[in-house]
Amino acid sequence: MKKYDFLIVGSGLFGGVFAYMAKKAGKSCLVIEKRSHIGGNIYTEKREGIDVHKYGAHIFHTSNKKVWDFVNEITPFNNFINSPVANYKGEIYNLPFNMNTFSRMFGISTPEEAAEIIEKQRTEIKGDPKNLEEQAISLVGRDIYTKLIKGYTEKQWGRDCKNLPAFIIKRLPVRFTYDNNYFNDRYQGIPEKGYTHLIEKLYSGADIMVNTDFLFDKEKYLKLAENCLYTGPIDAFFDYKYGKLEYRSLRFENEVLDRQNYQGVAVMNFTEREIPYTRIIEHKHFANAKSEKTIITKEYPATLAEGKEPYYPVNDERNNEIYKKYEREAAGCDVMFGGRLANYKYFDMDDTVEAALELCDRIF
Ligand code: FAD
Ligand code: UDP
Repeated sequence: MKKYDFLIVGSGLFGGVFAYMAKKAGKSCLVIEKRSHIGGNIYTEKREGIDVHKYGAHIFHTSNKKVWDFVNEITPFNNFINSPVANYKGEIYNLPFNMNTFSRMFGISTPEEAAEIIEKQRTEIKGDPKNLEEQAISLVGRDIYTKLIKGYTEKQWGRDCKNLPAFIIKRLPVRFTYDNNYFNDRYQGIPEKGYTHLIEKLYSGADIMVNTDFLFDKEKYLKLAENCLYTGPIDAFFDYKYGKLEYRSLRFENEVLDRQNYQGVAVMNFTEREIPYTRIIEHKHFANAKSEKTIITKEYPATLAEGKEPYYPVNDERNNEIYKKYEREAAGCDVMFGGRLANYKYFDMDDTVEAALELCDRIF
């Protein structure tokens, strides 16, 4: 008899939902995590009374009631609404692209005036948009593309907008109302006690080994449990036999400042090419934390060098073709694969929870 019912590789949100449901079904789990803590990218750390989002700003948003009820049952969420601002050479614009943005950019005040300007600017794109640049211009026109999209996107992805897939920019809403809510979803918020509290509750009852890389001794760890759920990078699981999947990475620079309020908003995007970071996060604003100090993080895009974390899959045609080969191989394997890295997809947290709950519905 093996000691555990399930081995979970990677202690992120996907594995956490799985561990929680497994426990409910009376199953035992061993979790193996290569970082020094559980939580994956949603991990938060308390400093100066403030929950610091260690791996970038995380705002939970969803239109799926089942997902929202599930996470709120674990821990209460606050009513935070993400309303970031863009800073282009000191000019401040509201995001996402809405009447406040158009008014400041074009000096107009009505939806008709804004639509007319954008309509005129988008005529330069003929036919279906073939890349991110064409998609962006056809959504919001060249002026907004130039000031608020081009620089940010080229920093973030390390490529010219002409060489990026169009879908990346379709994530952002475009609205002809004065509404600065970054998301269209029905539900939105941040765990009142921090994401780490959510994660600790999800994994409570499971045995956890941190600082342990599954791939260093795959066969040994697989012998410890009847079944395995793997949430790490899929190409690494198969020893990169079809080639390496490309990712963008990030570098975070944190500063504790001796003042109460640094930028007046949780997220400020710096959209010009010349500033090397993409955004500054001021963590206290996510949960209205009371502290004499404030903590900010500058987020610098980076290539995926040795020892760095893979954050954003680069879902262009070439990488998607490689991924399909791994996906076929995974389908014929008795290990389960789940999460952002194993699926090589830009999953938000709600997609992650939804996919994990679906898997659990099938097996428990
Ligand atoms: P992960 O959190 O990546 O967990 C995988 C875990 O596996 C990691 O802990 C990793 O260390 C571990 N691991 C990998 N390989 C091994 C190995 N060989 N051995 C042992 N352990 C291993 N979503 C939103 O909804 N809203 C947001 O605002 C938002 N902002 C984001 C900002 C950034 C910068 C990033 C990168 C993502 C953001 N997301 C956001 C997405 C969110 O982070 C993911 O949906 C979620 O974290 C995915 O969980 P996961 O368990 O699939 O992956
Ligand atoms: N984007 C942009 N300007 C901005 C914000 C976003 O051009 O001020 C583009 C950029 O290409 C980014 C994409 O929109 O990768 C998606 O933005 P989102 O905020 O959803 O990115 P994430 O939070 O996932 O990094």
